[in-house]
Amino acid sequence: MIKPNRERIENVLLQLAQFSDTKFPGVTRHFDSEYYIESRNWLITKFRELGLSPFIDQTGNLFVEYGKYANRNVIATGSHTDSVTGGGKFDGTIGVVGGLEIIRCLIEQNIELRHNILLIDFFAEESTEFGLSTVGSRGLVGSLTNEQLDLRNRAGKTLRDTIVIHKSAVNADTSEVDLTRIARFIELHIEQGPVLAFENKKIGVVTGINGLRRLEVIVSGESNHAGTTPLNLRKDAFMAAAEITVNLRKQWRLADTEKLRVTIGKVNVFPNLSNVIPGRVEFSIDLRAESNEILDSWVHKIEESIYEHCIQYDLSGEVILKSRIEPVMFDSDITDVIKQVTDKLNLPSMTMNSGAIHDSSQMSHVAKTGMIFVPSVGGKSHCESEFTDIPDICYGIEVLANTILQLDRLT
Ligand SMILES: [Zn+2]
Repeated sequence: MIKPNRERIENVLLQLAQFSDTKFPGVTRHFDSEYYIESRNWLITKFRELGLSPFIDQTGNLFVEYGKYANRNVIATGSHTDSVTGGGKFDGTIGVVGGLEIIRCLIEQNIELRHNILLIDFFAEESTEFGLSTVGSRGLVGSLTNEQLDLRNRAGKTLRDTIVIHKSAVNADTSEVDLTRIARFIELHIEQGPVLAFENKKIGVVTGINGLRRLEVIVSGESNHAGTTPLNLRKDAFMAAAEITVNLRKQWRLADTEKLRVTIGKVNVFPNLSNVIPGRVEFSIDLRAESNEILDSWVHKIEESIYEHCIQYDLSGEVILKSRIEPVMFDSDITDVIKQVTDKLNLPSMTMNSGAIHDSSQMSHVAKTGMIFVPSVGGKSHCESEFTDIPDICYGIEVLANTILQLDRLT
C-alpha cells in the first residue's frame, strides 16, 4: 500500500496556488495567462527534480511518464491546473499534485510496477472567454475541431494562437503520446457539489458523468391592455409558462430526483411591461441525468405538458433542443477496484454520478476510465470559498495510489 505524505501534498498545493492573478480573490490562472505558464514551468522543475522528462503535446497537454517499460501500455492519471476567475486552490490541481505525489512515493519506496504511470496535466480544462472547456483532453483524443481552434477571446486572439504561445513559453520538449498505450485513466477531483459532505462520506466512487439536454421553450399568446381585457379573453403567455414550470417541478418531485436535475434558469417575458399582458415568454429548461433514457423520456414529457397547456389556454408553443451532451459511463472494473481500495482503507464512500464535465469525459472515449471524488465543503466550487480539507485530499490521493497499484496487477 502507498501512504502519501500529507505535509508535502499541502506544500505543493499551496505553492501552486501562488501562481495567480492577484487582481481577483482566490486563484485566477487562466490558460491564456502568464500565471499558467509560470505554474507549469514550476511543475516541470518539480518533475525534473525527480529525474523525469516532462513533455508537451501539440494541444498543450503536459505529460510526464514514470517507469521503465516505454513500450508497454500505461496507466494514466491527472487532471488540470488552469482555473476560472476567482476560483479555488483544489479544483483540478489535486489530480495533478496527487499524481506527482504518487510518483514520488513509488520512487521512495522503490515499488516496481508492471506498467508505466503517465501523469497528465490537461491544457485548458476550464471554459473561459473562448467558451469551450476540456480543450486539452479534446485535443488528445482527437475531437478538437478546426472551428473550435478558430474561436477567439475578447482580445481577438484565436485558441490556436493561444496554444502556440503557451507551448513556446513552456520549458519542455514537444512530443506526442501514443494514445493506444493508454489502457486506463483515473482522475481524482473535488466533488464540486454538496453530496459527499452532506452524506458524511470521504470518497465518491464516480460511476459516470451526467448527460444534458437544454431546451428553449417559446410560449406565444397576445399582448393586450392590462386594464380592459377580462380573464376569459386573455392570451397570457406568462401565466401559462408559470403553470408549466410549477407543474414540471411537481412532476420532478414525484420522480427520482436523485437521478435527474431540472433547472429553469433563464426567463424572458415580452414586452416585460407592468401594464401589458405578456404576449410571449421564452424560457430555458436544463435537464441532467445519468442516462439518455431518462433524459429523452423527460424531454417527451415536457413537450407534451407544454402543448397541453397551450391548447388549454389557446396559445402556441414551441420547444427547441438547443444542446445535447451524451452521458458517460465509466468502466465498471475500475469502479469496482476504487470501491475495494476504499473499503480496505476503511473510508466511508458512496457511488455517485458527476454533475459536472471533466477531462475524464473525453478520456472515456479512448481508454477505460474512472473517477474519484473528495468532498467539497459546503458544496462550493468555482469561487474563492471553494475548500476541501487537506486530510480529505490525502485520502483521495491514497485511494488513487492504491487503485493504480491494484490495476497494475491486471493486464
Ligand atoms: Zn476541474
